[in-house]
Amino acid sequence: MQTNMLINGEMVAGDGAELPIVDPATEAEIARIREASPEQVEAAVRSSEAAFESFSRSTPAERSALLLAIADCLEENQDELAELESMNAGKPWPSARDDEMPLIIDTFRFFAGAARTMSGSAAGEYVAGHTSMIRRDPVGPVAAIAPWNYPLMMAAWKLAAPIAAGCTVVLKPSELTPLSTLRAAELLNDILPKGVMNVIHGAGPTIGDQLINSPEMEAITVTGSPATGMAAMRAAGNQIRHVHLELGGKAPVIVFDDADIEAVAETIRFGSFFNAGQDCAQPCRVLVQDGAYDKLVAAIAAQVSQIKIGRQKAEGTEMGPVISACQRDRVAGFVDRARTSCEVVTGGASGDGAGYFYQPTVLANVDNDAEVATHEVFGPVVSVSRFSDAEDALRIANSGRYGLASSVWTANVGRAMEMTGRLRYGFTWVNTHGVGTPEMPWAAMKGSGTGCDMSVYALDAYTSIRHVMVAH
Ligand code: NAD
Repeated sequence: MQTNMLINGEMVAGDGAELPIVDPATEAEIARIREASPEQVEAAVRSSEAAFESFSRSTPAERSALLLAIADCLEENQDELAELESMNAGKPWPSARDDEMPLIIDTFRFFAGAARTMSGSAAGEYVAGHTSMIRRDPVGPVAAIAPWNYPLMMAAWKLAAPIAAGCTVVLKPSELTPLSTLRAAELLNDILPKGVMNVIHGAGPTIGDQLINSPEMEAITVTGSPATGMAAMRAAGNQIRHVHLELGGKAPVIVFDDADIEAVAETIRFGSFFNAGQDCAQPCRVLVQDGAYDKLVAAIAAQVSQIKIGRQKAEGTEMGPVISACQRDRVAGFVDRARTSCEVVTGGASGDGAGYFYQPTVLANVDNDAEVATHEVFGPVVSVSRFSDAEDALRIANSGRYGLASSVWTANVGRAMEMTGRLRYGFTWVNTHGVGTPEMPWAAMKGSGTGCDMSVYALDAYTSIRHVMVAH
């Protein structure tokens, strides 16, 4: 198993403390991997800074070719990468192999195209005798921090856009799930020029903190919890750096009386419990208009109670464990605090035996202000609450701290348009939830972050607008 980091074109073992890497479905230790020492973080940062000098001057066509080569390489090695991902994050094998790998590969193919679309918006004589042009240039070396829920997908989002823009990257995957990213680093080291990508391993508050506070890093990009986002904003504030954040979510699913109830229930089954609910866009806060309430709760219960939980490759497994004992206990804590004031329709307990399993759980009659309805659980738990009319639904949905994903379910197109215009969320689906594509932004508002991943707009975080004027 590949456990070395990538620093300045070399695969090197960490000089820091050993961290255990665990299979969450069995609690068995898979590996022990040394984290980077402070000197190794510094070496990665210096390498990124040095490589920026030439890489920032590469042509879009050259960067596009690199991104296409990366996509091909990941495609050739997708079984091995999916195997590592599934083992390290506890994901059911079909999810890791068939749901996530194609999107990871396509992310690089999309940004290979996007690299060639960047343009300044104007050129001309705005002052007599002077010609102005607008350039869009790479912002500088990027410090990238990724979470554990989709380790390789988040690494792809944090690498493809900055490379397309002409930036170099020092990437730190989550200390819980580094395996797929470390192997990908080894593969990509044969493709990318030295220093364009450095990958370091280690804990957030130490290694991650050193990385985001390094003066050589001109931009910080984080996908993670709000606490890490705040740490990144403080680091950026100390040195006046660009910062791009994709943080938590608490996605409302707003279901009107005229919605297709079976379609909602199916989406909850397959969307809310995908990746054991550890998804920032998880449809987790179901708001139902009074007239459809009882029917929808019954339909969701019927769907969710059928979900089969199990190990990665066990026949029929739909849902695996959560990432750690700590995460399972956190999920259990939310449910235990909620159960006195709501109805546990299905689930509500940890799994038996080894592995960090928690049953797919549906809580009904949840007060709209309850902790479980307003805080991100990040586990297999869905709350169902009521609303009376569109204004009521908007008031409830827009009052939370988060603004990432949301969905509206209704047969009335006019009402759907009115709702999508007024919801304060980075993305809103109508009559579906969770469908993503690299062409479209994964965008954050309010406490969910700044800017977006994916789409051509992701390039904004990694480019600076510049004015060049020629007197003649
Ligand atoms: P986390 O914030 O605990 O960890 C994320 C990363 O940040 C890890 O690599 C960690 O080591 C690092 N980190 C932690 N403290 C740090 C610090 N002080 N300085 C620098 N780095 C630090 O988050 P997590 O538990 O891995 O992931 C779950 C969170 O991520 C959830 O809130 C989820 O909603 C969010 N998430 C958001 C998106 C999105 O696109 N918006 C996608 C996936 C996950």
